[in-house]
Amino acid sequence: MTKRILSNQVLCLKCGDTPYSAHTRDFKYCQCGNVAVDGGMDYLRRVGGESGYVDLSIEMDRDKVAYLKIAISNALERKSNSLGILCAVMIGMRDWDRKIKNANDTDKPEFPHFEIFLLLMAVICLSVLL
Ligand SMILES: [Zn+2]
Repeated sequence: MTKRILSNQVLCLKCGDTPYSAHTRDFKYCQCGNVAVDGGMDYLRRVGGESGYVDLSIEMDRDKVAYLKIAISNALERKSNSLGILCAVMIGMRDWDRKIKNANDTDKPEFPHFEIFLLLMAVICLSVLL
């Protein structure tokens, strides 16, 4: 399962800055110089960080990214508004996770808090639409 980097960013625990690397060789230090990020959406490189940092990067399974991109394309073809596109993404994430869970019934799949948040957003979107 290969991952796709969607966000390459850290939170410096010394100065509170959140440097972000937008593309390959986009090397950026935080304001105090404690930690730097690099690699954009190609790789996650960190320099320094001795005073502490929290990695804010987001990575997602490449197949899941492709699945969600199709969901967005379909929503755009239906001329969905921004709420409709958000719902398509949330529903796509829910359905993808169910598919993974069903495929691994004997394993207990991880269910990070971020994913629970996204599911709640999907429920809220649906309740707004209905
Ligand atoms: Zn800093």
